[in-house]
Amino acid sequence: MRARIGEATDIGLVRERNEDGYLVRPPLFAVADGMGGHRGGEVASRLALETLDRPGAAPLAERVREANRVVYERSMLDRSVAGMGTTLTAAALEGDRLRLAHVGDSRAYLLREGRLERLTEDHTMVHRMVREGRLTEEEAAWHPYRSVLTRALGTEPDVPVDEAVVEVRPGDRVLLCTDGLTSMVPDARIGQILRATADPQEAADRLVEEAIAAGGLDNVTVVVLDLEEDRGGAAWDTAGKGARRRGRGGSTALRRPRLGRAGLALLLTAALGGLAAAGLRAYLDRQWYVGISHGNVAVFRGIPTSVAGFELHRVVLETDIPAGPVLELAFYRDLPTGITADDRAAAMAIVAQIREDLAARDRAGGGGGGA
Ligand code: MN
Repeated sequence: MRARIGEATDIGLVRERNEDGYLVRPPLFAVADGMGGHRGGEVASRLALETLDRPGAAPLAERVREANRVVYERSMLDRSVAGMGTTLTAAALEGDRLRLAHVGDSRAYLLREGRLERLTEDHTMVHRMVREGRLTEEEAAWHPYRSVLTRALGTEPDVPVDEAVVEVRPGDRVLLCTDGLTSMVPDARIGQILRATADPQEAADRLVEEAIAAGGLDNVTVVVLDLEEDRGGAAWDTAGKGARRRGRGGSTALRRPRLGRAGLALLLTAALGGLAAAGLRAYLDRQWYVGISHGNVAVFRGIPTSVAGFELHRVVLETDIPAGPVLELAFYRDLPTGITADDRAAAMAIVAQIREDLAARDRAGGGGGGA
């Protein structure tokens, strides 16, 4: 089996950096979504993908565990990236089998005969609650803790890796993506786009565009693999080679996303200086998130960014919870860049949850173990 490949990544409309990364090194493919303060998220996803990409014959899951060790050791050695981590969803094409290794809340899907099937399970608090029957899928989709991970790569010396092997056949389409897609675009819509778009590169571009049109609240990364009979010759093909890159994708193996915020900056600068300022203010006043202020966990109003020197947020409440130990817990992946909440109550609920998780960690002996 060989794959025709589509790939795309975008910083989105809100984030300061693109901490996602992906690997296209046929027959190996992966996406990673980094987390952590300063440059931690970018470092974690890049290190994980580089480690996965090292030559060698180790089984896929072992390479993922090795990536975990590399990220973890770096975070121990370098204070500036302490507490960093990343998701990693990797797929290796082995003849007519697709081998998967997975940690976190990035996902792999299979589209076969028009039906979209999820191949991975999210390692998130809300997914666990759904499994336990405490939440419905619909409630989970907009839950304030939906991005809180129960498992991440690089936050502990060792990590359990989910493994799966799927029999694949010509005509199958595989999607690897970060939660910047799945938190913005429902599965039904993802399936629609995949069914309606024959070319894999075009499908990848359209999925990213849809996530941005839906708000683009997170970095978004997708890899689309169209499987076909291998009739000798090249073992794979980059479908969109040279075409329709638009500065987002690329065919080199390890692609770090490029900054693409210029358009938003211009738009907001114009808005701040012009008639739309009042509308923007009203918009910002409806946005809430939990982040860090003066080293403490804090509740903010606005969006966690600044444009042309204007801070688009303000602190509403600075708690007495120091951010350091929270980052050690590492489930609060988005704290440094802001965990978004639907309203003030939801933001306060996140703060309460942080307090509870810290207390639980302390009771457990400060080990910072899995939630
Ligand atoms: Mn993400």
